[in-house]
Amino acid sequence: MTSKNADLLIENAKILAEKDGAFSMVDAAVAIGGGRILEVGKSQEVGGAYTPLKTWNAKGKLLLPGFINTHCHLFQVFMRGLGKDLPFMDWMNGSVRLLMPMLDDEAVYLAVMVGCMEALRTGTTTLVDFMYANVKPKLSDAVLRAFDDCGIRGVLARGLTDVDRFPGSPTPPSSGAPVAQSLEDVERMRSLYQGNPRISFMLAPSVIWAMTREGLAEASRYALANDMVVTMHLLETSDDDAFSQEKYGMRTTRALEEIGVLETNFLAVHTVRLEKEDFDLFEQYGTRISHNPVANMILGSGAAPISKLTRLGIPISLGTDGAASNDSQNLIEVMKSAALLQKVRYRDTAALSAKEVFSMATDQGAVAIEMGDQIGEISPGKRADIVVVDLEKPNTTPCYDPISSLVYSGSEQNISSVFVEGALVIEDRAFTRVDEKDILRRAQSKAQALYQAAKAE
Ligand SMILES: [Zn+2]
Repeated sequence: MTSKNADLLIENAKILAEKDGAFSMVDAAVAIGGGRILEVGKSQEVGGAYTPLKTWNAKGKLLLPGFINTHCHLFQVFMRGLGKDLPFMDWMNGSVRLLMPMLDDEAVYLAVMVGCMEALRTGTTTLVDFMYANVKPKLSDAVLRAFDDCGIRGVLARGLTDVDRFPGSPTPPSSGAPVAQSLEDVERMRSLYQGNPRISFMLAPSVIWAMTREGLAEASRYALANDMVVTMHLLETSDDDAFSQEKYGMRTTRALEEIGVLETNFLAVHTVRLEKEDFDLFEQYGTRISHNPVANMILGSGAAPISKLTRLGIPISLGTDGAASNDSQNLIEVMKSAALLQKVRYRDTAALSAKEVFSMATDQGAVAIEMGDQIGEISPGKRADIVVVDLEKPNTTPCYDPISSLVYSGSEQNISSVFVEGALVIEDRAFTRVDEKDILRRAQSKAQALYQAAKAE
C-alpha cells in the first residue's frame, strides 16, 4: 500500500465516541494537510496510511473541535470591569461611551489581541467580532491585523450605524456614517484579505434604532449579493419594540421582515424579549440565533427562551458579547451559564443539557455563521481547528462523561494546546506566535492612558 502525504499527524490522541446519549473517549490519530483534516481514525490505521512532514504527540489527551464565539465586541476589552453594578445608563456612560470616542488604531489592536488570547486560552478558535466602534477611518483594520497576528479564525462583522441621532440623544453617534460609505470600507477590507483562509466578513447593522430603513435595506441587498451573513442585536430589551411600534407601526421582527433584512442569512443576537410572532417568523425564515447568557445576566436583560427555540429546530449558537458586559471572552463559562440559565428559567433540570450547549459552541455555531461545511467538527474535509483538552486536572477528576466534565467543571486549565487551520497557536498553554507578556504590558499602559484622558475631558 502506498503511503499518502500529510503536513501533520496528531498521534496518541483521543476523540469522542457517543453511545446511548453519553460520551466516552477512544484512541485516535488525525492526519492534516493544507490546513484541513484529511482523515480521523484509529492510531494504527491512520498512522500507517500517511507519511507526514511532522508528527505531534497528544500524549493521550482529548481532541475537540475548536469553540465558536458568534458575538463579541473585542474593542470592549479595554472597558472590562468599568461601570459594574450600576444602573444601565450609568454603566453605559461609565464604560463604552466613556472610552469609545478615544479609541485609536493601537488601542483597538491591543484590545483585540488581548481578547483573542483569552479566547484561544479557553478553547475558542473562531470568533465573530461585531465591530461597531468605527469612530475613526479604517479602525476595523486593526481588528484584522490582530486576528492575523495571533492566529485565530476571525470573522469581522463590520458595524453599521446611519442615523443622525439615537433616540433621546442630543448628539450624533460617534460611529455613524452613510451605509454606502461603510460598504466601501467593507469592499476595501475584503479585497485586502482575499485569499486569507482565516479571515472572513459579515455585516453588522447595530440595532433597529441605530439604522434608517434605507440603510437596513441597502445592507441586506449587499449581503445577499455577496453571500454574507447579516448580524444584528435583536430584542435584548423592550426598547427595540417600543421604537419599532412608533416608527414602523409594528414589532421589530415584523419590521425587519418588511424591510427585507429577515432573510436566511440573518443571525439575531440576544432574542430575549420574544413573543409568539417572533418564534413563527424565525421558523419561517430559518433565522439563526446568537445566545449570550452571561451578558444577559450582567445587564439584567433576562433569560432568552433558548430551550423553546431549540425544540423548534432553530440553530442556536453562543456568544460572550463584549467585555464591557461580560467581562470575559470565555466560552466554557458561557456554555455552563447557558445550561444553568435555561434550568432556572423553566425550573427544569432537563431544559438544556451539556451535550446541547456543547453542540451550540461547535457544530451549531458553525451553522449559525454559515460555516457548517468548514468548521465545528473533527471530520475529513473540515478545517483543522482543534483544541487539545486535558481532563487530568483536579477540577475534572474523576471524569465519567468528558462533555459533562468540560461544561460543568471545565476551565482554562483544561485547554492544553490549540490548532487553527492546522497550525499550533498554543502549545502546552504557551502562545507560539504572540509575546504574551509584551502584549499584556502594552495593553495595560494604553488602556490606563485612555482612561485618564477620558476622565480629564
Ligand atoms: Zn453585543
